[in-house]
Amino acid sequence: MRIVVIGAGVVGLATAFELRERGHDAIVLDPNPAGGASRAAAGMLAAVTETEWAQDALHPLMRDAAHAYPDFLARLTAAGGDAVGYRETATLAVAVDAADRETLTGLAVLQQQGGAVVDRMTGSRAREREPSLGPAVSAAMGIAADHQVDPRQMAASLLRALGAGVRREQAVRVSTDTPIGREPAHRWVHLASGDAVPADVVIAATGLGQVEGVPALPVRPVWGDILRLRVPEALRPLLTHTVRALVRGRSVYLVPREDGTLVVGASVREGGVAGVQAGSVLALLRDAQTVVPGIEECEVIEMMARPRPGSPDATPLIGVVERGLIVANGFDRHGVLLAPLGARLVADLVEGRAVDPAVAAAVHPSRFHPADVRQVLPDLTPPAVAVLDGAGMKG
Ligand SMILES: Cc1cc2nc3c(=O)[nH]c(=O)nc-3n(C[C@H](O)[C@H](O)[C@H](O)COP(=O)(O)OP(=O)(O)OC[C@H]3O[C@@H](n4cnc5c(N)ncnc54)[C@H](O)[C@@H]3O)c2cc1C
Repeated sequence: MRIVVIGAGVVGLATAFELRERGHDAIVLDPNPAGGASRAAAGMLAAVTETEWAQDALHPLMRDAAHAYPDFLARLTAAGGDAVGYRETATLAVAVDAADRETLTGLAVLQQQGGAVVDRMTGSRAREREPSLGPAVSAAMGIAADHQVDPRQMAASLLRALGAGVRREQAVRVSTDTPIGREPAHRWVHLASGDAVPADVVIAATGLGQVEGVPALPVRPVWGDILRLRVPEALRPLLTHTVRALVRGRSVYLVPREDGTLVVGASVREGGVAGVQAGSVLALLRDAQTVVPGIEECEVIEMMARPRPGSPDATPLIGVVERGLIVANGFDRHGVLLAPLGARLVADLVEGRAVDPAVAAAVHPSRFHPADVRQVLPDLTPPAVAVLDGAGMKG
């Protein structure tokens, strides 16, 4: 099938890659590939430590996504991709004051209910494992299963694997009207350049970007400010674990990269400036310094802010919304972790394969605003075949 993916963030790129792997002719359109939320992301594959209360539908997706990651990366490497900065560095979740300890303990119970292995320890034991932790750390949990990738490297790797299949074009409209003088096609993606691209199936993975003809989704910008620090040679390695901290009720994380840099993030704000917010930077550095005092000696090499495509329940919005039109959006704080899983789900929808009904229901956009989605399929499994396969379309 000819498939056009709109949006080359991690979600669109992973989806196009998956479709190519399955033998489809998939191209991706984006005026600024991998320049959106995906450029800012820390790349934590934090299926355990991102387990939070009242997000029950999300938890199994995160667990499946974490399990699926190594296979996805192996296929990417085999297809000509390159290093993606995948590190099996364990994660330490640490607490500072009594309320932080209580929160951490409550989350550990929830995480263990989901089958996670959580190693609870005192602050002193945590310092034995990670000597750069400061005296303010009073308790910790070790989570061996939460790993990381470098999202910039991963996006570069996907772009390399997709090659000329990625075009620097902005989509402005999706329609079924065949432009004058062109061979008929099921769908057309009209470009800002004035050209139009034919497709059997269109996948809109535009994050916060809007395209006319794609039903509006309940996604909103959830801003994140994030810093990159270079650790001086004399202090390396400053950290050997990803450290996620609760510091008097606020969250901060420090992710050590192979190249000696450290990612410190991230704020979660629904408003404020559209660039890097001073107060967020101040809070991140102050809290990071409470947990790892040595960061005072590091060089700040980058500050960045990007809006995450937030969804009302923090769970992605994936589904067939019209004949031959699929959305993959709302990946919120988990897009790097969930991209390969989302890609597999979208590819299954394209091919009319059976999709776990619980998963289909958890992610279908109609769960919030049925009126916004013009043609909702109550059960994606059998109808998706009829809607998306060639015979269904001719009918
Ligand atoms: C500070 C920060 C830290 C994060 N850390 C993590 C983390 O550790 N782990 C994790 O799993 N997730 C993390 N995330 C979340 C993750 O980055 C997002 O969920 C993910 O990047 C969403 O990917 P996407 O492809 O949907 O969106 P985006 O990366 O925003 O991509 C959307 C793309 O669509 C393109 N586009 C928009 N409109 C059009 C159009 N009309 N035509 C063509 N192209 C268009 C844009 O140019 C853009 O490239 C973090 C996010 C932030 C901001």
